[in-house]
Amino acid sequence: MTDSSRTPATKPRVVIIGCGFGGLEAAKALSHAPVEIVVIDRTNHHLFQPLLYQVATAGLPAPAIAGPIRHILRKQIARGNLTVLMGEVTSIDTASNCVVIDGGEHIHYDHLVVAAGATHSYFGRDDWAKYAPGLKTLGDAFTIRRRVLTAFEQAERETDPAKREPWLTFAVVGAGPTGVEMAGTLAEIAQQTLKSEFRRIDSRRARVILLEGAGRVLGTFPEDLSERAKEQLKGLGAEVLTGAKVTNITAFGIHYDTMEPGADGTPVAVSHFLPSRTVVWAAGVAASPLGRALAKSTHCQLDRAGRVVVQPDLSLPDHPNLYVVGDLAHAKSYLDPHNPTPVPGVSPGAKQMGRKAAFNILRRLENKETQAFRYFDYGNLATIGKRAAVAVLDLPYINKRVKFSGFSAWLFWLFVHVYFLIGFRNRTVVMLDWAWAYFTSQRHARVFPDPHALEPNAMLVRVTPPAAPPVSVSAVHPPAATPTSNTSSSAGQTAPAR
Ligand SMILES: Cc1cc2nc3c(=O)[nH]c(=O)nc-3n(C[C@H](O)[C@H](O)[C@H](O)COP(=O)(O)OP(=O)(O)OC[C@H]3O[C@@H](n4cnc5c(N)ncnc54)[C@H](O)[C@@H]3O)c2cc1C
Repeated sequence: MTDSSRTPATKPRVVIIGCGFGGLEAAKALSHAPVEIVVIDRTNHHLFQPLLYQVATAGLPAPAIAGPIRHILRKQIARGNLTVLMGEVTSIDTASNCVVIDGGEHIHYDHLVVAAGATHSYFGRDDWAKYAPGLKTLGDAFTIRRRVLTAFEQAERETDPAKREPWLTFAVVGAGPTGVEMAGTLAEIAQQTLKSEFRRIDSRRARVILLEGAGRVLGTFPEDLSERAKEQLKGLGAEVLTGAKVTNITAFGIHYDTMEPGADGTPVAVSHFLPSRTVVWAAGVAASPLGRALAKSTHCQLDRAGRVVVQPDLSLPDHPNLYVVGDLAHAKSYLDPHNPTPVPGVSPGAKQMGRKAAFNILRRLENKETQAFRYFDYGNLATIGKRAAVAVLDLPYINKRVKFSGFSAWLFWLFVHVYFLIGFRNRTVVMLDWAWAYFTSQRHARVFPDPHALEPNAMLVRVTPPAAPPVSVSAVHPPAATPTSNTSSSAGQTAPAR
């Protein structure tokens, strides 16, 4: 089907693919511009990913952190300059200036903003995905929440202590910000939320293990804050295993290697098996497959994580009407034009890029020169659990960097996240839920649909796991697949930092 709604008299059309942080900001920035906007997203909602772990750990209901795109952009829709289409863009035909939705409908664009974000990377081991879901979408969060709560239920039913243990062992792979907040909150659930709700098991005996391939947690933070984060995780009841390279994941647990001193002092790889029925993947990020679709159509350059290498003004070489923003873009900041610096894969980066792409589209419509992107970085925050967080703030006006951790960092994290949530109702709901959870340690979004209808049999059936392989010691060579936290992997891929 082709797009027949174009007439010569219509305003220039800006198509925005993806209504996450980058796409939404671009749409808002064009709100009063003399253009017609079409926003296409494969979901019906804008998602506040920084609080997704709260849905995955039953702390918040989904509508508290996500809102219908149509409703968020209702004023622009009412003004008649914006259309929202729910559909998956499957390809981009730059020869005819069209995007293709769901493999069929063609939508014409005069200017295109691609803001399709990122997805998980299992470093070539996509077969791990069914045992170790990552956390990117609401669907992922629902799967993790169901598996975590089902594991406690299965443990309550299991009478054999040896078979019960894997149900009470929760593994999180990758100690970037997502892994750290997942591990801290899972430990809180075991230690506080569920402690008096079971008869046969003591939830406080559950183990939460955070595995990280690199030498420290929160690798993008200063070393002293990594150390403090590790201490706070331990204080919450989580175990931290650094230098642990995951080599396989099955329905029954995780195989990983560590490097340890051999008999003669030289390091040897020692293989281990951790029996666990619940594994969360927080280790790898790869750009949206639309990056590859763009490369096919425009011959643009992709980096090793599949991100599109953009020009200083965020457009593509030889395609001045085509912009890529957010996690899908390999962009540089030109705050110092002689020393451009990489832009991290975080929400402020995506929002600022979205606004800049809109600004540059307007410049082109006015026949003015576009401007290079300048990223303003105000710091880095990571929460670990109740009263536990780390923060680095850059204060450009006084040229100072402030680092803090613990309760003050947690309070700061909390207010920043509530402030940036979309919608007054969401802010109020989240504040009330958090205040309640703070004083009662309860998590109220614990209801989930029938797992028998949703889980693969092996994830649910209380089958006997195969005998654990013995711990083996092998030669000095580092192991083959070695995912680390969300920033890199020894499989040679780099990913947008988060
Ligand atoms: C669990 C988690 C926690 C995070 N925590 C933080 C944090 O604390 N602080 C921080 O700054 N950043 C955080 N981030 C990173 C931040 O969320 C991202 O940097 C930001 O979302 C990137 O914005 P984006 O617009 O590029 O992509 P997204 O916000 O991911 O939006 C992409 C949109 O494109 C849509 N889409 C994708 N493919 C298609 C297609 N083919 N067709 C149509 N639509 C499509 C998706 O449905 C989505 O709506 C976190 C990320 C995750 C996953």
